[in-house]
Amino acid sequence: MRIDVVSLFPEFVTQVAGHGVVGRAGERGLLSVHGWNPRDFAEGSYRRVDDRPFGGGPGMVMMVEPLRAVLAAARAAAPEPARVVYLSPQGRPFDQARARALALEPRLVLLCGRYEGVDERLLAAEVDEELSIGDYVLSGGELAAAVVVDAVARLLPGALNDVESAAQDSFEPSADGAGPLLLDCPHYTRPLEHAYGEVPPVLLSGNHAAIARWRRQQALGRTWQRRPELIDRGALSKADARLLDEFLAADGDALGDGP
Ligand code: SAM
Repeated sequence: MRIDVVSLFPEFVTQVAGHGVVGRAGERGLLSVHGWNPRDFAEGSYRRVDDRPFGGGPGMVMMVEPLRAVLAAARAAAPEPARVVYLSPQGRPFDQARARALALEPRLVLLCGRYEGVDERLLAAEVDEELSIGDYVLSGGELAAAVVVDAVARLLPGALNDVESAAQDSFEPSADGAGPLLLDCPHYTRPLEHAYGEVPPVLLSGNHAAIARWRRQQALGRTWQRRPELIDRGALSKADARLLDEFLAADGDALGDGP
């Protein structure tokens, strides 16, 4: 996969992409991330990329022409068609399902705004989709682009080692696609004995069925406690409903009415 990042600070994103799982995806030839600066495509000695908003008001707006030119150059840099994504607080909320879908694309162009944002005409003409990483306003799209690059890159086949398989992660659907999206279960590692507490004995039992059952139960229980809107209790399978009831009973919430 190829990702082109259009930003006034492209190194911000390309540097992030050099570390950890994303960096390894790059080393393995699964991903390349390229930065493009609209200022390099701006005219005049000041290489101006922004101007005052029509109608007045505070702040500056990123101009159409430098962005049109940089996007044209980025698109032309590789033969595959590129899906152009504008990072915006007004976009569709970015989630794991969207990350999975984007990981199937051969190419993405991530457009990062600054100031008050981008001239709407450029967005209407060039952008396929707008994505938000949350209901708050950042000063620029670079952090959001880095989030998208990271979440997408780790889903590319071969990016994660087996031990880090994404299948068990929070928000990943089960193998058969049935049941709710759950948060991950708790994890423990050595040392076995520590003043901070014990490791649940089932994890030391070697009984794989019991461990899988415990993990499913923990995932159901903590999802119900932390993100109850993810679980429609009436739609749970009988097995999941029993696991959740047991979890809540053991947790002292025998009524199980949620947090
Ligand atoms: N005036 C815009 C608004 O209220 O919708 C906010 C502009 S913001 C200061 C500058 C840039 O940061 C935006 O163009 C966008 O690229 C990026 N940005 C800010 N918040 C974001 C978010 N929650 N998700 C994705 N991108 C965001």
